[in-house]
Amino acid sequence: MADRVVTLNAGSSSVKFALFAADADWPRLIVSGAVEGLGAKPRFRAAIVDGDASDRPLAAKLTHKQAIAAIFEWIEDAYPAAAVSAIGHRVVHGGLSFAAPIIVDAETLAELREFIPLAPLHQPHNIAGIEVARDAFPHVPQVACFDTAFHRGHAFVDDAYALPYSYYERGLRRFGFHGLSYEYISRRLRTIDPVHAEGGVIIAHLGNGASLCAMKGGRSIATSMGFSALEGLPMGTRCGQIDPGLLLYLLQSDAMTPEELSHLLYERSGLLGLSGVSHDMRTLEASEDPRAQAAIAYFIHRIKMEIAALAAAIGGFDALVFTAGIGEHSPRVRAGVVEGLGWLGLTLDTAANSRNDPVISAAQSRIPVFVTPTDEEAMIARHTIETAGLTAAAR
Ligand code: ADP
Repeated sequence: MADRVVTLNAGSSSVKFALFAADADWPRLIVSGAVEGLGAKPRFRAAIVDGDASDRPLAAKLTHKQAIAAIFEWIEDAYPAAAVSAIGHRVVHGGLSFAAPIIVDAETLAELREFIPLAPLHQPHNIAGIEVARDAFPHVPQVACFDTAFHRGHAFVDDAYALPYSYYERGLRRFGFHGLSYEYISRRLRTIDPVHAEGGVIIAHLGNGASLCAMKGGRSIATSMGFSALEGLPMGTRCGQIDPGLLLYLLQSDAMTPEELSHLLYERSGLLGLSGVSHDMRTLEASEDPRAQAAIAYFIHRIKMEIAALAAAIGGFDALVFTAGIGEHSPRVRAGVVEGLGWLGLTLDTAANSRNDPVISAAQSRIPVFVTPTDEEAMIARHTIETAGLTAAAR
């Protein structure tokens, strides 16, 4: 039987998982699922490809570690003969050290813990996932796949903040995130449109977290997120671009504590903060509240501005790709962005856009615009198979 790999993607309120077979050039999905609603009403759901689905409540007050343990128990029950050969983990922050996936050992795990302050919403849960998986499968390699890795190797001008140079040397840099998604889309684009894929491409990953990446020849050149996952676009609950002077003002004049400021910027801002209605784009689109509409307008406006800035960083672009929840499913947001960039040579096919078609630009558009579903899990599985050295054995 071909090797099996499990992927874990632990976020702030959910842990997604998947089981893949390593029996082809590309990982084959067997089952995907998640524990969602951690901290509120946790539920377990799993869907077997072409098979049964289960969806059931779990005990309230589940910790991330307990949720991950429940996932492994389910996998062992459902697939007793699955013989898991490796486990792949999405790890949000790899700092300066990790520019590629690695097999985690005690030393690297300690290093990953040092990045917790840089990604407080994700990194602790990513590490918890590795710890639980290691206990459940002590002889199986644990592979860490980093969201930052795809962006390492940026030129100085796209990597630095204009602080004293010693801060740059210390590693206070523009790391960028969503790298697994960008890498996946970059590979997909090579199949969808091989010619444009090699040129300048801007990818808009618009989910609860949102960022943009400008690539050339399939490599990341610049990205809208920076040192933390707060920079760039406004998000579900995160502020995006902000004047650091405003933060100084809040610390000094409002005597905010760092914890209060962190809570404000990560959890009370963005679409939720602006609208006062919801962090969720579907809810905002359905709302008649003028502030909900203003929040959507702000979101679209900032995407347009950041795309233009990234276009300058790569000397213009040949294709634009929308992905993730909003990018894949919101004709309204895409129309706002594409029509707003008409001056750059983008023309929307309104009917194709309303159907969420794979290509939403009109035939005469100078720059093609794609809607491409992302698949971070498959990308993690692919890296895990390669890093654990399973590919050759499976073929
Ligand atoms: P995450 O970053 O948590 O993985 P997703 O990529 O799933 O998030 O994106 C979630 C966002 O996508 C939410 O704001 C949600 O409202 C939005 N979304 C999903 N479906 C639609 C839709 N049909 N129309 C508009 N927005 C949508």
